[in-house]
Amino acid sequence: FSLYSTAVPGVGERTLIAVKPDGVQRRLVGEIVKRFEQRGFKLVGLKLLQASEGILAEHYHDLRRKPFYPALLRYMASGPVVAMVWEGHNVVRTSRAMVGDTDSSQAKPGTIRGDLSVHISRNVIHASDSVEVAEREISLWFHTGELISWETSDQCDLYQV
Ligand code: GDP
Ligand code: MG
Repeated sequence: FSLYSTAVPGVGERTLIAVKPDGVQRRLVGEIVKRFEQRGFKLVGLKLLQASEGILAEHYHDLRRKPFYPALLRYMASGPVVAMVWEGHNVVRTSRAMVGDTDSSQAKPGTIRGDLSVHISRNVIHASDSVEVAEREISLWFHTGELISWETSDQCDLYQV
């Protein structure tokens, strides 16, 4: 017997969140993790890594023709990144709202970018922008063995089960 169901519909959505090199340098990892934890999302993967050019080229493939693309890849390779996978109801959309506008100067106070950054070129965090993209990005940044499926004991406080 369990107080909570392991299969509450719609709470298994996952997204890729990455603290970019500026966020790691500026010691913002804890602050960012805290926001996702406190919102009620479940951490299912986490690692510090130096991103390779290959992974970054794949990750930002859609932006390859943008004028800022070479600078973007240099920025993302300039130091370690903390890659995370977070799980929960509507996590893709909710995390985009928590992260705020791409352009930090437009990001609202209360959002991660709006509270912690000032410029689009150093906007501290990445968040997948759709469920399909999230699936692709998670499989790019993580091996399946690095993701842990586990049950949180507060599930019945976060969701109607
Ligand atoms: P995101 O999904 O909000 O991260 O934004 P995009 O997918 O449009 O862009 C990816 C990343 O490229 C952004 O987070 C920025 O780091 C960077 N970027 C986007 N637009 C610009 C720009 O105009 N100038 C610079 N320097 N970087 C940009
Ligand atoms: Mg994007």
